[in-house]
Parts: sequence; C-alpha cells; structure tokens
Amino acid sequence: MRILVLSDVHANLTGLDAALTAAAGKFDKVVCLGDVVGYGPDPNEVIDRIKALDALIIRGNHDKAGSGIEDASDFNPVARRAAMWTREQLRPDNLEYLMNLPIGPVELEGMSFVHGALHDEDEYVFTQAQALEGLLEAPSAVTFFGHTHLQGGFVMRDNQVEAVHFKIPAGTSFAEIPLERDATYLLNPGSAGQPRDGDARAGFALADSAAKKVQFWRVPYDIPAVQQRMTTAGLPEALVLRLTFGR
Ligand code: ZN
Repeated sequence: MRILVLSDVHANLTGLDAALTAAAGKFDKVVCLGDVVGYGPDPNEVIDRIKALDALIIRGNHDKAGSGIEDASDFNPVARRAAMWTREQLRPDNLEYLMNLPIGPVELEGMSFVHGALHDEDEYVFTQAQALEGLLEAPSAVTFFGHTHLQGGFVMRDNQVEAVHFKIPAGTSFAEIPLERDATYLLNPGSAGQPRDGDARAGFALADSAAKKVQFWRVPYDIPAVQQRMTTAGLPEALVLRLTFGR
C-alpha cells in the first residue's frame, strides 16, 4: 500500500493543497498525524478537505485546544491566541469532528502512527536519546510521528540510534530512503502547514509498504497568499512571519 502521510497542516489550506497536488495519483490511503488546525487561517476549509480524503487520522495538541476539549493553558501566548481564534471560527460540525478525533497510536500496514511520542501524544521527540526510548518499545518497525514540524527522524540499528539524513535542494521535490529489514524507524513527514526546519516549502511523506521505501517531499506553495489571510484574520504577526522562513 502506498500511504500519504500528512502532519501539522495547521489550517493552511494552500500548503495542504500543494501537497495533495504533488502527491496526486501516488497514494492509496491518507494518514494524518494531527494538528489539523491552529496557527493558520483556514480551519474549516482544511477540516473539510481532510474529511473528503477519508484519512486515517489522530488528534494533535492543537486539535484539542482548538476544539476546547483541553484548555490552552500550556500554550505560549501566541499559540493560545490562535487557538482561541480557531475555536471562534469552527462550524459546529467541524468542532464536533475535532472533538472526536481518536488518540494515537493507530496502525496500518504494519506501521504505527502517532502525533508526538509513542507513549505520550503530547511529547516532542527532538533528540536521539528521546527517539531511543520510543524505538526500543515500538510495536512496529516503522513509526511515523509529527508534532516537532521537523522532517526526517531517526533509525535504530543494533540499539544504536542515528538521525535520518537526506537533502531536498530547491528545485528538487523529494528524497527517498529504503526501509532496511533489520532497522527500526521513527520518521517525521514534516509539516504541510508550518515547517520549522528552515525549508519554507510544505512537507509530507509517501510510504510504500510493499516496495519498502519512504519518500520525503517538499513542495513550494503561495506563502504570501496564506500570510495575507492570516493578517486579515488578525492572527499574531509572529505566526505570519515564520512561514516566510520555515522556522
Ligand atoms: Zn503542530
């Protein structure tokens, strides 16, 4: 099965649509790792699009804050403002959809999918030491995670963890890694709506469970158009600016 893995779309319809256009015809199923809303200007439009994809989906921390099933008290002030704005915008049916999103992990085709860490949906996995913890207990050889907005991830061979290295230069769309038989992977598809790894392009991954390979994609999208909608909506300027730099 060819799986399109999306994460951290964050109400950025233009970023999501650029990803979907680039991935068209290349996948059989969509998995979404949560944070559908928060930060961006298009919460209802993005939820509508995700619903139409019939994706296997789990919730992220921004979906909980945006729907109000958790307060945003642990969010920084800028993220909290965006969460409150999101809650005011949501149509009742979309509010209900967000409130009922399942908790990860979920499994498909022998792969696991989580928002943050395997044992805690809200935990960030940034370092090799943090990755090792999850990799040692992982129920699958391949786990996809999001939450950090950093495309890439980790591979464990003989209990040694390394970062997964690849480069996607400007003008190139993707890098491919093989899934080795005796290795365990914790892979992040990147953020389609608010990248933070210094590459402003929308990120996503295509995983092929039969061919045993994963492609990490980056596609350009109309960032100023999204920024214009954010400014019109009165969303915090820091959130508007960071899209330019992918930080
Ligand atoms: Zn996020």
